[in-house]
Amino acid sequence: MEIPRLHPDTIEAIKERVDIVDVISEYVVLKKKGKDYSGLCPFHDEKSPSFSVSPTKQVYYCFGCGQGGNTFKFLMELGKRSFGDVVLELANRYQVPIKTLEPEQKKELQRQLSQREQLYEILAVTTAFYQHVLYQPQGEKTLKYLKEKRGLKPEIIQQFQLGYSPEGWETLYRYLVEQKHYPLALVEQAGLIKARKTNNGYYDQFRDRLMIPIQDIQGRVIGFGSRTLGTDEPKYLNSPETPLFDKGKTLFGLDKAKNSIQKQDQAIVVEGYFDVITLHAAGFTHAIAALGTAFSKEQLKLLLRYTDSKQVIFNFDADKAGTKATQRAIGEIEPLIYSGQVNLRVLNLPEGKDADEFLKSSSESIQQYQALINNSPLWFDWQIQQLLVNKNLKQADHFEQVGKGMIQLLNQLEDSNQLAYYIQYCAEILSQGDTRLLPIQVNNLLTQAKGSSDVITRGQKNKARIFSQFNPDSLLVKSEVLLLQIYLHCLEYRQEIIQQLEEKNLMFSQSHHRFLWHKILEIQDSLDLGRDPENRLFSLLQDIYLEYPEQMKQVQCLFFLSENANEDIFRASMSIPSAIAAIEKISVEQYSQYCLVKWEEFLKINDFERSQYYYQEFLKSKQEIETLNQQRIGQNPG
Ligand SMILES: [Zn+2]
Repeated sequence: MEIPRLHPDTIEAIKERVDIVDVISEYVVLKKKGKDYSGLCPFHDEKSPSFSVSPTKQVYYCFGCGQGGNTFKFLMELGKRSFGDVVLELANRYQVPIKTLEPEQKKELQRQLSQREQLYEILAVTTAFYQHVLYQPQGEKTLKYLKEKRGLKPEIIQQFQLGYSPEGWETLYRYLVEQKHYPLALVEQAGLIKARKTNNGYYDQFRDRLMIPIQDIQGRVIGFGSRTLGTDEPKYLNSPETPLFDKGKTLFGLDKAKNSIQKQDQAIVVEGYFDVITLHAAGFTHAIAALGTAFSKEQLKLLLRYTDSKQVIFNFDADKAGTKATQRAIGEIEPLIYSGQVNLRVLNLPEGKDADEFLKSSSESIQQYQALINNSPLWFDWQIQQLLVNKNLKQADHFEQVGKGMIQLLNQLEDSNQLAYYIQYCAEILSQGDTRLLPIQVNNLLTQAKGSSDVITRGQKNKARIFSQFNPDSLLVKSEVLLLQIYLHCLEYRQEIIQQLEEKNLMFSQSHHRFLWHKILEIQDSLDLGRDPENRLFSLLQDIYLEYPEQMKQVQCLFFLSENANEDIFRASMSIPSAIAAIEKISVEQYSQYCLVKWEEFLKINDFERSQYYYQEFLKSKQEIETLNQQRIGQNPG
């Protein structure tokens, strides 16, 4: 079959739609290993996996034979197929409409491609121009504003490439078109100049403004945000949409935040440019902002590529507009929230401050901000809090409104664990401290919330999807691996690890981890290796390879450190408590499931006393899990 020439849009759309892990999983058994997946290489014979796949980078690589590339390359290599063939198959499977190219179109496309390159260049040159002007006498006022009003250090001003667009109608126009000889049409396309309406000629889009370059994920400038320091309207003015700049698909600061988001496994979403800049300056380098428009599903998906546990915190302004923006953003990404694809929290700063104001408010504000992040409510709790704003439950009409709002929210919950939790939570609010009313309110909500009668069956079907903030298995395995690695490589922490495991009565869940741990204890005991400055344990363990080849193969990777593991181990003192917390969490979670089943059992036979007991136990364990989660996150900064 003849393969038609494919439009690059089709290829881009496929790249967006297809996940490399899904594709490769069909051919290779992949296991989660840290942030990546690994398996046996399909391109060469091997017994232990040296083939790894990175979901964040959407590439694969084999450390054994050196094969590597993206999804297309994988399918081409594996089936010895052509590029077009593979693209067509993927387009078909993921229902991406196929656009093809005629020869003339192809030429046109090449022209467009070279135009894009030129647009990038024009924007880069403009950025440098604005930066230069900031340090000239004309830019003095703006520079002073940045330093004094905004409290920004020179490094941050540099890092964000802030600049100043001079006064005058044609300064940039003359520089780019007359001096640098860039094609007029392209400068206009880049959103930098506009045609005059009345007579011929062009004028600069940005005049006498503080300029904030907006970069794509690779750090290339694709547009500008700007702020006037005078009385000009509007106060904030962005570049128009251009072939390079799509507001709905861009996040301000993501190019600078992506590594940090990956490391901290968490992202903060704020409203304004200066919120991002101030947060970065204060060390919260995992902050980004949507661009004036509401936070969109595309933007969220872009963000989620970088956080393994899908932790996103909305920190919009706490005023009315900010609350609306939060609600709008939650609405926009609702399907992703309810299906558990994002673990969303909402942070409202005290006294209606935005992040920028808050961080400048006192000398302890950085620690305070971190604490507020750690304690920010889950999106659902926040929604309930919003229902109660300015409501007096003693008033019949208010009571009814709140009750209705709660039912509406509860009806959207797909997860039984959550439903049970929030039914009781709402019932407690509605009974206003009168415990005698509690069972009645629970029953009211139970009957009104749709499908809640079979909480248990639902629970077994879609087990704790939203609340399981991390894939428990991978988190557990990761934590166990980390503990064992620290134990093997960092002598000074051995005592602490043994102590913690014994104190909390915890054991490794993976049989090969348990095997290694028993061997470790055995060797230490028999040789009295209490203190082991030469790390004899390490080499003695290697020796048992001959005796237990199968088991040792499974734990061999613990003896070699990847770069990531190295970093975690470097921070061992912080990693140990969070790894322990992760292991502990799993056992508490099992207990909470048990309590949930009991709660419903007794509720069904109207035994309120016993159902309450299990409910309290359930709550307690939920709290404990929450604390353990915080320990994991809090103890694991970048
Ligand atoms: Zn290979």
